[in-house]
Amino acid sequence: MTLPIQNPESAGAADRARIAETFVSLQGEGKLTGVPSWFVRFSGCNLRCTWCDTPYASWSPEGAMRTVDELAKEAQAAGVGHAVVTGGEPMLFPAAIALCERLRENRMHITIETAGTIARPVACDLMSISPKLSNSTPAPGDARDASGTWRSRHEERRVNIEVLQALIDAHPQRQLKFVVAGEPDLAEIDTLLAGLRGWTNGDVLLMPEGVTTPSRERTDWLVGVCMSRGWRYCQRLHIELFGNKRGT
Ligand code: SF4
Repeated sequence: MTLPIQNPESAGAADRARIAETFVSLQGEGKLTGVPSWFVRFSGCNLRCTWCDTPYASWSPEGAMRTVDELAKEAQAAGVGHAVVTGGEPMLFPAAIALCERLRENRMHITIETAGTIARPVACDLMSISPKLSNSTPAPGDARDASGTWRSRHEERRVNIEVLQALIDAHPQRQLKFVVAGEPDLAEIDTLLAGLRGWTNGDVLLMPEGVTTPSRERTDWLVGVCMSRGWRYCQRLHIELFGNKRGT
């Protein structure tokens, strides 16, 4: 299988990468919600979602260079059985391949959280794909993007059907997690899913947009959508437990 790589210029080294943070917490989203996990957040992203909840790993990437070896040792010492490789966009970084191999040697369950625009041959037990809808595109005049460069790049890059299909095909254990801001997003999700094969309703999760606990009304609406289509409602447990804070 060919795994197409987009934007390889952002790749970096095979044995190290800039890491925004590592921490132990409960997985807050998706099929493994509530599972104690060691998180590693790669710093850097090929997209710029307007509502990104980790701007320190996308709009303004922070963090030190860390080697795969030291990360793998830290993961093993964390004392939990699950690892979540997230970002930013972890698939930008070749070091994600070596890190996942080491986490597997640690006998850890590995989740990769990606927007699904880049594919690499990574070992993982759950491929968590979050395709970005048009609600993610920075608005014209966004102060973080005065020239509009990122708005254009984001629109060009945010959906790559070939990569999404490759990830679905390569990873029988997967989830397709959509951030939903409102009713118009549903038609976009339908169109996107219609262009993909091999997914099941059980793989599709809808998550309310926002970094605060959603209102009862919004939750009820989204729950109703999920129930009518046989999809899953995806809460943000970490937001409810800890608020929108780093390291959670
Ligand atoms: S893909 Fe993820 S990390 Fe990148 S800008 Fe969007 S929400 Fe942030």
